[in-house]
Amino acid sequence: MLRMIKIIKKVTVLMGITLICISPKAQASLSILLYHQVSDTKKYGISEEKFTEQMNFLKDNGFTFLSHEQLLVAFNKEVDFSTKKYVAVTFDDGWRSQMKAVKILAERKIPAIFFINGEPIASKWGGYFNKEHLKEIESNPLFVIADHSFSHKIKTLHDPELLKEDYRKNVDFLKANIKSYSLVYAYPYGAKKKEYIDYLKEQNVQLIYGTGGAKIHQTTKVSKYDIPRFTITNSVSFEQFKQYVN
Ligand SMILES: [Zn+2]
Repeated sequence: MLRMIKIIKKVTVLMGITLICISPKAQASLSILLYHQVSDTKKYGISEEKFTEQMNFLKDNGFTFLSHEQLLVAFNKEVDFSTKKYVAVTFDDGWRSQMKAVKILAERKIPAIFFINGEPIASKWGGYFNKEHLKEIESNPLFVIADHSFSHKIKTLHDPELLKEDYRKNVDFLKANIKSYSLVYAYPYGAKKKEYIDYLKEQNVQLIYGTGGAKIHQTTKVSKYDIPRFTITNSVSFEQFKQYVN
């Protein structure tokens, strides 16, 4: 028995060494980035200059950008991201200022997902996309428009019936205003309640993106109903950004 324990210990030590040996390779991962406004001053804003600098850094340093379709496949399978540096770009809330990012991304052929709320667009609120912007975004095959709730109101998160109504309204809005409905979702405020998740699953929602930034090494280690994203704003330094993605 003692001998057995000794053997196990040896193997563990060996495995420890093996793990240390492959650790530089194992550092690679998938980091999903979340942006809001493209602005110098707005809360949750990122300036056009900083956004450009970040995208150039990713392009120049061998990152592989994943599209909505690639993420959909990856999170429905067992995929290991730890051998290469992957990144995905997402935007929430449908702010009009994101059109500046659309241009920057299109020039660099970087794919992105835009999670939008129907209410500000349907009500023509200032500062948000209009329906022409939606058409422009989805005319580029790099980009996908997806669901971020209709109203983005916090009270809907605490009432299961309001939640369902809100969800259905946004699905109707998206189906009426975009060419293809993607069945992926981002929680407003990153909020997630069990009833909410269960309801979205029943509606056949395939992936749900949250916040709670974390690097993803293997898809099987992450719930596809709570995929972590790093929120990037002006207060994230370039050094910090590099740590998020590297
Ligand atoms: Zn939001």
